[in-house]
Amino acid sequence: MKTENMPENIKGNIPLKDYSTFKMGGAAKYFCTVKNEEETKAALDFAITKQLRVFVIGRGSNLLISDDGFDGLVLKIEDSSVKSEATKDGVVLNLGAGNLLTKLALDFQKESIGGLEWTAGIPATLGGAICSNAGANGKEISESVREVRALEMELAPEKYLESYALRSIKKDECAFAYRKSLFKDTKKFIILGATLFLSRGDSDKAKKEIEKNLENRRQKQPIEYPNAGSTFKNPVLSEEQKDKLSQKCPHFADVCKNSTVPAGWLIEQAGLKGKKIGGVMVSEKHANFIVNTGEGKAEDVVILISLIKQKIRIKFSIQLHEEIEYVGF
Ligand SMILES: Cc1cc2nc3c(=O)[nH]c(=O)nc-3n(C[C@H](O)[C@H](O)[C@H](O)COP(=O)(O)OP(=O)(O)OC[C@H]3O[C@@H](n4cnc5c(N)ncnc54)[C@H](O)[C@@H]3O)c2cc1C
Repeated sequence: MKTENMPENIKGNIPLKDYSTFKMGGAAKYFCTVKNEEETKAALDFAITKQLRVFVIGRGSNLLISDDGFDGLVLKIEDSSVKSEATKDGVVLNLGAGNLLTKLALDFQKESIGGLEWTAGIPATLGGAICSNAGANGKEISESVREVRALEMELAPEKYLESYALRSIKKDECAFAYRKSLFKDTKKFIILGATLFLSRGDSDKAKKEIEKNLENRRQKQPIEYPNAGSTFKNPVLSEEQKDKLSQKCPHFADVCKNSTVPAGWLIEQAGLKGKKIGGVMVSEKHANFIVNTGEGKAEDVVILISLIKQKIRIKFSIQLHEEIEYVGF
């Protein structure tokens, strides 16, 4: 499908399962990979002309894409530029949003730049990680971010793109919180890149930490099946919920930290490990992961998520909230 005035890199009717780690979902009406600001603007100009909704993806590692796909333009950011400037205390990095976190951690380790070791094994782009404020091992990407460069979109009431403007957003304007940010909350920004500050580190120590993190993930996460990471956020409990749970579950005190309990532990306690719907299943290895066992459909995931939420509500009076994001529903 080619339309008049359509930039060369925009393609029609592209299956999104090829761009999601879950390996499911229908097609995008239009799809475009962009490597810099000019290409991004050209794609957005096309979206304005055609009155399209726009959805931006990175590695597609946190998405549940509808079996009906996305009726608009999906923009995949692939800018992997890296510019660094040494300072007295560390390094200021200007990074394209398409950089992959694990690659950054490995490359920086070789140059004795520390601070991103915890990201090793998270299959994310920098833009996606900033949008979701990705975190692991008690750390979050927001800790290293100084400023974000983005295109802010003005949307019509029907969510079609009307216009856009370039913006620099300082860290304290980014509204970072647990798996949240201004970008996630508003869905109005296309992150082009970010300035990070990282300190100098010990290369050997960093290498060991990266290897340990990769091994931990291999041991604990079902990487042998397509998945989209943690399905639910870890809920924060009230005193009443904590009391109830400690009476019901003998090991509750071992897993509850600062009133937060792992969603995977709750799902396991509810006896849902291995629960299957169609082509998807609650992982036997890590109960907060839903895996695609082959021919999984987004509809199967929606049914399984609904069943898990209902069981957890009935058994523990706790409402789970999705960490994965729905696209095209
Ligand atoms: C095996 C596995 C392990 C995981 N482990 C972790 C973990 O330890 N910690 C953790 O936090 N997450 C984890 N995740 C989830 C996921 O990797 C993160 O949420 C990640 O930040 C998503 O990055 P992405 O580039 O894939 O973004 P996508 O999944 O493509 O998109 C996620 C969100 O970011 C937005 N987005 C993407 N790029 C941009 C951009 N350039 N501008 C504006 N918005 C953008 C999208 O619109 C969407 O809202 C894991 C996932 C998997 C599959």
